Amino acid sequence: MSTAALSRSAIRPEHPLAVRAVRHHRHRAPLLRPFVTAARRTECVEYVVAEVELNDGTIGQGSAAETVAVTGEDAASIAAALGGPLRAAVEGRRGTLRELTRAVAGAAPGASSARAALDVALHDAWARRLDQTLVELLGGRTGGQLPNDMTISLEDPDSMAQHAREAVAGGHEVLKIKLGGNIEEDRRRLRAVVEAAPHARLRLDANQGWSAPEAIRILDSFTAEGLPVDLVEQPVPAADIAGMARVREATDIPVMADESVWTAADARRIVAAGAADMLNIKLAKTGGIGEALAIADVALEAGLSCMVGAMMEPRISITAAAHVAFAHPAITTIDLDPPAWFSSALPFGGYAQPGGRLRLLGGPGLGLDRLPEDADPAPPG
Ligand SMILES: [Mg+2]
Repeated sequence: MSTAALSRSAIRPEHPLAVRAVRHHRHRAPLLRPFVTAARRTECVEYVVAEVELNDGTIGQGSAAETVAVTGEDAASIAAALGGPLRAAVEGRRGTLRELTRAVAGAAPGASSARAALDVALHDAWARRLDQTLVELLGGRTGGQLPNDMTISLEDPDSMAQHAREAVAGGHEVLKIKLGGNIEEDRRRLRAVVEAAPHARLRLDANQGWSAPEAIRILDSFTAEGLPVDLVEQPVPAADIAGMARVREATDIPVMADESVWTAADARRIVAAGAADMLNIKLAKTGGIGEALAIADVALEAGLSCMVGAMMEPRISITAAAHVAFAHPAITTIDLDPPAWFSSALPFGGYAQPGGRLRLLGGPGLGLDRLPEDADPAPPG
């Protein structure tokens, strides 16, 4: 065994990290087709990579994408948070992972996805320094696999049917259908998808697009028609917890909170109100891995299950989300298809999904190659 390997094996997870530098770079990736929800339409994603360098030269990366409609953050504000308060919170500091990620959590309020990028970069560097796979350090496993879904954007019924056919031909058994428009049109959309993909399991996502009475009416009609709907995500506006509880009470379709749950405190409020059967955890909302697992803890105690989802984010973010997904027993489903929308497949590694079933590939940290600064170049200026 080499001296380096010997000294590395002597490092323990609770040992402090010394952060030499925090850097960030901006990227821009065109999507293969427009991504459309009740809240937004996206054809090209601007994203920012956060990079942490430890004193021993170990480098970790995390990423965040602009999601103005959900987190209020664009690429410029993410870059400003990473280059300002977030960098100041940890650069030149020595501390345990817990101390450093707490410093990140306390800096840049309102910049949850920028915080998530740096939090993930710290976790990646931590696990690489220990020469272990992140999921295992989080208490999970590398060997598992979960069916990944494919999202069908909110478009006209014919386009949605065509995209559903393509997804099924590509090996996906689970489709996530974006609805949340006019409810008569939403009915036509879902019928078209069911005709095109009669054997697929369906997840619906209204992205806050219905009122509680509308949601109850449309979901009742789906149940009456016997459509294979496994869950409905965020049927009503995020703040309408009472309305979501009424929807849950009135329908047999499991209700999942997404835009209503950002933190463990939100999760406890939703549990107390009886407003959801499932919670959608996204690092861009929680601001990091610790809060994501804290939501899963709330769910486990209350008997709810969780999905790990993501914004339209690049592969580094999605790989981090996949490590979280395999780290907690309350997390039973994933919604991690964004890389399939990106025209570039960088960086390599992290995970694979033969036949639509996602599994981690292992390797140190997130198990990804380092994304070069000149990948998916952002326009100058
Ligand atoms: Mg959602």
